[in-house]
Amino acid sequence: MTNLAFDISPYSDVGARMDELLALGIPSCGIGELYPPEYYQSRAPNPPVEAITREIKKRNLKVVSVHGIGGFVAQDPAHQPEAIEKLKRQIDVAAEWMSPVVVFHFRQPAMPWEEVEMAAWTVKIGQMGIEKFDAIFHETLARICDYAATRGVTVHLEAMGHPFSYGHSVEQIIPTLKAVNHKNLGVCADSGHLHCSGHDPAGQIRLAKGFPLALHLNDNFGPVPPNYDIYDSDLHLVPGLGTINWPRVILALREVNYSGPMFFEGPHFPGGSFREGVELTIRNWRIFESLADKLASRG
Ligand SMILES: [Zn+2]
Repeated sequence: MTNLAFDISPYSDVGARMDELLALGIPSCGIGELYPPEYYQSRAPNPPVEAITREIKKRNLKVVSVHGIGGFVAQDPAHQPEAIEKLKRQIDVAAEWMSPVVVFHFRQPAMPWEEVEMAAWTVKIGQMGIEKFDAIFHETLARICDYAATRGVTVHLEAMGHPFSYGHSVEQIIPTLKAVNHKNLGVCADSGHLHCSGHDPAGQIRLAKGFPLALHLNDNFGPVPPNYDIYDSDLHLVPGLGTINWPRVILALREVNYSGPMFFEGPHFPGGSFREGVELTIRNWRIFESLADKLASRG
C-alpha cells in the first residue's frame, strides 16, 4: 500500500489536525505556506516555527513536505542578496521540521504580495525580460540547492496557473531543471494547478521522469471560463469530486517510479470538515488505486 500524507495549514489548530490524522492511521503530514508579512495583514500573524516544531515532536509525526515562501529574483539587483537569505531561511524551516522536501512556486519573483498575484508576476518578468530573469533565477536556484543539500532538503518547483504565462506547466520547468542540473532540484506536480491550467496531469507527471518528484494532489473541474484564472478554478477538492482522471495519474506515477508519499494538499468538499475531507480522500484514493491495477492488468 502506498503511504498517504496530508497538508496541514500552519494557521489552523495544528496539534488538533495532527491528532485527527493519527486517529485515521496517517502518521505523516506536510506544513503549508507561512505567508509573507504583507499577506493578510488584517489576519493573525505567522505562528512561530517553534510552536509547530513542538507539536510535531510531541506526536513523533513525520513531516514529508513543507511549502516555502518563494521570491527568487529581485527587480533591483541590490536586493538580490536579501532575497537569497529569505530563501535560505525557508530551507532552515524545512530542515527544522526534518522535511526532505521544500516546495517553491516556479519563477516567483521576489516582490510584495499583490491580490492579482499571477498577473503581477507575469508583468514583472515581462518587464525584466525572461532571459535576464532566468539567468538570475537559475544562479539563485543553484546557490539555494547547494545550501539545501547541506541540510538534507530537496527543492521542488511547482507550476502555478493562468494568467501566469511563464509558469503553469511541468513542461516549462524542465529546461530550468536541466540548466541548473542539481541533484537537490526537482518538480512538485500539483494536479490541481495542472488540470485547471488545461494540462493533462498524468502527461505532465511523465515529463518529470528522472528528476526528484513531489506531489500536491487535489481535484477540480479544469479551466473555468470566462477568464481561466487559477483563483476561480483551483478548488482543492477531494480526488474524485472533480474531473481529473485519477487512475491515469496513478499509472503515470508508477511509470516514473515515484516512491514517495501520496501527498494531498487541502482536499475538501463544501460543508465537510478537515477530518471528513481526509476520510473521503483515503477512501476514494484506495478505490482509484484498485481501478489503476485493473487498467494496468489490461495493458
Ligand atoms: Zn500546490
